[in-house]
Amino acid sequence: MTAARPTVLLVDDEKANLRLLSDFLRQDTGIILAQNGNQAVEKAVAMQPDLILLDILMPGMDGFDTLRTLKSIPATSDIPIIFITGLDNPEKEQEGLRLGAQDYIHKPFNIDVVKARIATQLEIVRQRRALQQLSRDLSRASEAKSRFLANMSHEIRTPLTSIIGYAEALLADEFKGEEKQAIKAISISGKHLLTLLNDVLDLSKIEAGKLEIELLPVNLPELIEEVRSLVEDSARKKQLIFAVNIGEALPRHIYTDPVRLKQILVNLLSNAIKFTKQGKVTLDVGIETEQLFFKISDTGLGIDKKRQAELFAPFTQGDSTVTREFGGTGLGLSISAQLANKLSGQISLESELGVGSCFTLTMQPKLCEVPRMEEEKPDNQSKLSGKILLAEDSNESRKLLTRMLQSQGLDVRAVENGQQLMEAAMAEEFDLIFTDINMPVMDGLQALKLLRAVGVETPVVALTANVMSDDIKMYMHAGFSEHLSKPIDRQKFARLLQQHLPGISEQNDLTMPNDEMRQLMSQFVNGLPAHLCAIKLAYQQNNLSQLEQLAHKLRGTAALFQFKQISEMARQLEHHMPIEKLPLALKALSFEVEKLIANKDNLPID
Ligand code: ADP
Repeated sequence: MTAARPTVLLVDDEKANLRLLSDFLRQDTGIILAQNGNQAVEKAVAMQPDLILLDILMPGMDGFDTLRTLKSIPATSDIPIIFITGLDNPEKEQEGLRLGAQDYIHKPFNIDVVKARIATQLEIVRQRRALQQLSRDLSRASEAKSRFLANMSHEIRTPLTSIIGYAEALLADEFKGEEKQAIKAISISGKHLLTLLNDVLDLSKIEAGKLEIELLPVNLPELIEEVRSLVEDSARKKQLIFAVNIGEALPRHIYTDPVRLKQILVNLLSNAIKFTKQGKVTLDVGIETEQLFFKISDTGLGIDKKRQAELFAPFTQGDSTVTREFGGTGLGLSISAQLANKLSGQISLESELGVGSCFTLTMQPKLCEVPRMEEEKPDNQSKLSGKILLAEDSNESRKLLTRMLQSQGLDVRAVENGQQLMEAAMAEEFDLIFTDINMPVMDGLQALKLLRAVGVETPVVALTANVMSDDIKMYMHAGFSEHLSKPIDRQKFARLLQQHLPGISEQNDLTMPNDEMRQLMSQFVNGLPAHLCAIKLAYQQNNLSQLEQLAHKLRGTAALFQFKQISEMARQLEHHMPIEKLPLALKALSFEVEKLIANKDNLPID
């Protein structure tokens, strides 16, 4: 039933019956008519109706014989048949059903009942065909998977054979004096396996829609240089000429995902080098009709026109001789094409067998200003020295604080709760400890009390979103040396570090590279919907203490990243929120989070 309108074959020796039925059914279905059994079989074979309404009493071949014949012919055996009969004989009816009829309709019939029964049978046919299609799709997918597994096991076996072979030769002392060579071969094969694994993971992430793109300000000439340095060795080894041409008016900085852009370019260039025996591989980068293009051309094997489109599907390769000679999994182009898509770009291909290929990645460049912190920084910035222990349960905050401290030259040990803090502080000496207050397992206050009780005197700084003066007094009273509130006042932070740690730093601006900050911030933003969900769940389950804890955590981390609005909303949720106002407050927070997610390409970096 591929056409929207199904067809029904009506078989009756009485013309009046045929006319009556076809008049009623014509509106919803296509009609084929037959006046006897032979005609019915012929038309069923030729026209493949979706359903047959079959009279039983007919001269010559009766309904039962017609049904037997139809069921015995493969082309018609699956077509459902409904008997229409004036006979009122339960045994005959049973016989008909046993022979394979789907249903029985008695004359004189009620046309609405007939229509309903026909509709039921047609629906069953539709569902059966959908299932058959699904089963065909599944078996095609399963074939592709088997082909892939066969390719993969070959791809994995080759480097593994080399790893095991070299390792055993080393064990047997067969490399006397040249062990390094064997170890190098093992390392190369190991790295190859890793690339393979990453490809497979990438593809499965892309196919599950889980591949995250991280847009950052990227210095384009630097990225191209990196790509060049990654592939030029393999071109040199094959004695190919390798050239990179950068066009005029190329923007210096664009917003894109540098890791993924590099991955596409390295993939395409590696293929160009792999499939070129002699001649030249060129990377041209430029702007044409406002589009940024990366053109990778080679003087290699070239690709047959007929096969060009399908090479972008996963697991497809040129032909089996190509596979045998060059290896590969057939994943590179598919991954590259899908990544290009994610970066709002596309890859096109022009190629001629025996002449060479040219793959072009084009994308709309998202221009950006030269990021302030990417500008050259003097390398001789003065640094502090010392060992810091940091306890913070929020991943993003922990990473951010760790990087802020590391950027000052400090050695940082970061843990996730008070208990880990205790264990670390008792096992090692630290110069300064920073701890969040609200943490799972053991909070910062408890950890501090225990530390002091066991005689650890290291100064401890309370890091918290609580700025109520009573709380602060209580922290100091409990034995904290300092209190630092989130968002962190960078100058106060720097002063505090200088006060407690040896070093010659006069002016610590606690900066970290802009793209790193952006990355941490975007990790925090990406995690917001899940955090919000957990808060909503706590509310739905009326678990107010959980809600309070989650809101507290959000408040602190949002403050650290300077998302003041979200931090304030989380604070309101955390404290004194009359319960009937919670739904509204949650809605407002959802709205704010959505806004932030929608704008996450333009996160404010100060
Ligand atoms: P792999 O290289 O791992 O087989 P790809 O998806 O990268 O997988 O490439 C698929 C196929 O496309 C290759 O097997 C090869 O036949 C063909 N191909 C890709 N790039 C080129 C090129 N520059 N020249 C000739 N053939 C190529």
